[in-house]
Amino acid sequence: MKLVWLRSDLRLNDNPALYSACQSGEPVAVVFVATPRQWQQHHWGNNKISFIAAQLQSLRQHLNQRNIALHISCCDDFSAQPQHLHALMQQLGASWLLYNAEHGYNEQVRDNAVAATLTQAGLGWQRFAEHNLLAPEQIRTGKGEPYRVFTPFMKKARRWLSDFPPQPLPAPAIQPFAVLEQLNHWQQIPTYQLQWPVGEDAAWQQLQHFCQDAMNDYQHGRDIPAINGTSRLSPYLTIGVLSSVAVYHYLQQRMPHGDGATTWINELLWREFYRYLMHHFPALSKNQAMYPHKEPKWDHNPAWFARWQQGNTGFPMVDAGMRELAQTGWMHNRLRMLCASFLVKDLHLDWRLGEAHFMTLLIDGDFASNNGGWQWAAGCGADAAPYFRHFSPTRQAQRFDPKQQYQTRYVPELADGRQSYSQPMVDHKQQCQQFSQRVKALSPKTATD
Ligand SMILES: Cc1cc2nc3c(=O)[nH]c(=O)nc-3n(C[C@H](O)[C@H](O)[C@H](O)COP(=O)(O)OP(=O)(O)OC[C@H]3O[C@@H](n4cnc5c(N)ncnc54)[C@H](O)[C@@H]3O)c2cc1C
Repeated sequence: MKLVWLRSDLRLNDNPALYSACQSGEPVAVVFVATPRQWQQHHWGNNKISFIAAQLQSLRQHLNQRNIALHISCCDDFSAQPQHLHALMQQLGASWLLYNAEHGYNEQVRDNAVAATLTQAGLGWQRFAEHNLLAPEQIRTGKGEPYRVFTPFMKKARRWLSDFPPQPLPAPAIQPFAVLEQLNHWQQIPTYQLQWPVGEDAAWQQLQHFCQDAMNDYQHGRDIPAINGTSRLSPYLTIGVLSSVAVYHYLQQRMPHGDGATTWINELLWREFYRYLMHHFPALSKNQAMYPHKEPKWDHNPAWFARWQQGNTGFPMVDAGMRELAQTGWMHNRLRMLCASFLVKDLHLDWRLGEAHFMTLLIDGDFASNNGGWQWAAGCGADAAPYFRHFSPTRQAQRFDPKQQYQTRYVPELADGRQSYSQPMVDHKQQCQQFSQRVKALSPKTATD
């Protein structure tokens, strides 16, 4: 029997490991192993975990219709997984384990340990490349080095995609062997109540609606948080209900031209870029900045951090963003940039605190994109916002929410004319000047680059 181990690829369509197993002519089963303690260490929160649990139930139905069992098991953390999977394979009578690679450092260490344990036990394993738009080794500068700046990366990636358009794989066919029993050893409390409907069909429908309603004007609409100007597909992409390859292919077939689609594909390429960086610069997976010499000494101020977390800074645009996150498990990209910049450049607090807080609440919490976004905001990442670029909460509100529709949705006190709303907790201009001075003082090099 071939056992397919699903991780961040919870789908039937365009799943190389699953597809290959189902083409083999042997019985196939699928397993998902929950690792609650590891997830806690990675700051995964209930929104993401319960979305995964709900997606597994939907996926199980669809796999069962194809005569494929989905076993859901559980072990504490990654270090326990080699023995856990070995035991499971013995219990199920599986001789091969197939899986699609993941890019994180801990994930790769885990996969190598699993492969070594299985090899030693005389069992087979097959790792498929992580199914992204680009393989990280394909895209390099003229000097053969990895890119550190987005625009040249994006141009090269676009040329590559047009020369070698990636092809999604179909969902597996119905298998000839019936499902007998399915393990169910992870009892996630069914708390999923967020706004994203569960399942592959729902995700595809959302993409269709977005293409019909908002794609053509995406280049403008994506900046206005009060409207549905973006796809809101990130939760599906994060846990792999949709693959970027299948989404890209869909778009190429239906709307290959237009400013909206071009801009949207660039955003998918930002996602790709952050994964690419994780591959080429493993230090990023170990809590380190891409450019550590650009990081000033951070302050320690739990009271300020709590006010930021609670959306109680006295800056309505920042507070609306933070409350959107707390209430819905998602935050619009413009607000992610503003709130991240505020924590770092106005409050002088370590971006790692913000990264962990976002991860704990985001339904789309994705290590590479979240880490990339935070390092970008803090000015110490690849192609980051320079230290002297400060997002003004007031100016951002005037430009992107001039009628305060978004702000009053999450900060209803504003409607009473600010009386019941807090005063700004800091002087924005002064704080940002101090931030710039701190970074400038680090070394002569950082003042100019
Ligand atoms: C501080 C910070 C933290 C972030 N954390 C995450 C995270 O944990 N998970 C996550 O998926 N995205 C993260 N992003 C990126 C971005 O904010 C979200 O992907 C986007 O808001 C999701 O909404 P959407 O699906 O409507 O995006 P759309 O605008 O419709 O874009 C389509 C897809 O492109 C990708 N994408 C879009 N913008 C970016 C970007 N700037 N960087 C990387 N990928 C992008 C996403 O997969 C998104 O679903 C973060 C950005 C910042 C500044």
